Amino acid sequence: MIKATGIDKYYGTYRALTDISLEVANGEFLALVGPSGCGKTTLLKILAGFEDLSAGSLVIDGEDMTEIPASARPTRMVFQKLALFPHKTVAQNIGFPLHLAKRPKPEIDAAVRRMLELMHLKESYLNRYPHELSGGEQQRVALARSMVSQPPVLLLDEPMSALDAKLKKSLQAELKHLHRHVGTSFVHVTHDLEEAMMLADRICVMRAGKIVQLGEPSEIYYRPANAFVAGFIGDTNLLPAKVTREGDAFRFACDVLDCANPIIAADQVAPGVAAGADAALMIRPEMLRLLAQGESADCTISGTVNEFFIRGASIQYRIAAAETEIVMDIPGTSTLPAKQGDPVKLGLALGDLFAVEA
Ligand code: ATP
Repeated sequence: MIKATGIDKYYGTYRALTDISLEVANGEFLALVGPSGCGKTTLLKILAGFEDLSAGSLVIDGEDMTEIPASARPTRMVFQKLALFPHKTVAQNIGFPLHLAKRPKPEIDAAVRRMLELMHLKESYLNRYPHELSGGEQQRVALARSMVSQPPVLLLDEPMSALDAKLKKSLQAELKHLHRHVGTSFVHVTHDLEEAMMLADRICVMRAGKIVQLGEPSEIYYRPANAFVAGFIGDTNLLPAKVTREGDAFRFACDVLDCANPIIAADQVAPGVAAGADAALMIRPEMLRLLAQGESADCTISGTVNEFFIRGASIQYRIAAAETEIVMDIPGTSTLPAKQGDPVKLGLALGDLFAVEA
């Protein structure tokens, strides 16, 4: 549906995007993530036609977009700040794109009702005005309006960032529901990594105008290309290590980890490290467990509890170990297994280690 090849974007002499190539399949949900200023919105605007590209090519739905203005593209963009018409009702707002396209009234009515249903908005809202709705409901109406004419591509620029946590959760569920039922390709900019993991088929991680990694959520989470991606997506421990090839596998040495047999398989080593780059061992907090007295594991870490946070479903521990701090998440329990100042031993399976470029 979208094929971007070698896209560069300059604002004056400032290079905002460098050699961006990506494809989005028909009906795919792609999340764009990355630190502030890395070029996510710029890329979205180029797809939408609100910005020209400086080099490269863009094909959407089989057609070269170079000369096609935003209004004639098969894309719709939803901005962070929604712009509903304040003096139009919910029904008029949602139906507006079809009204503009001079579609017959019964068709508009049917499409509006279908969108209302898909976004789980009550029928009684149809005659309300935007100011009579909550922020979350307004955002749903804005989404419904952008989808009513069934554009092949929906571009979402942080549409949920202004909402509180609970509303966000319910709107995320609506968005996924909507995506599943309309067959549109979604490109969704978000700085909420959990949201990207939950919603997207693939995640594109950007940094300083370039794509660092593009892959399925589990790939990005468990097999990050480098320490930047590992640290950007979710909490993580990155322990400096030396990694050297040993036959088909790799041997590692790391001051913090105590392992009887410090060997990991080739697929536990990112390509950059295999080629000789400096390494860090990535350990996700949920991969660690608290060892009971006398209990053993492939690898262990000895330390002292600095701090803990009871989060309900899980407890997060911050543990001082060999001049670093280790983060560990364990399932929540009503009795606290260790408290501040306690000496602890953590266990880890060798198979859970992954070496990234430091
Ligand atoms: P955020 O997460 O903060 O929204 P972003 O990843 O969406 O950031 P962009 O808005 O795409 O980032 O901006 C990328 C870079 O290009 C930034 O350094 C920004 O200052 C710059 N930039 C964006 N628009 C313009 C413009 N119209 N003129 C000049 N520079 C711009």
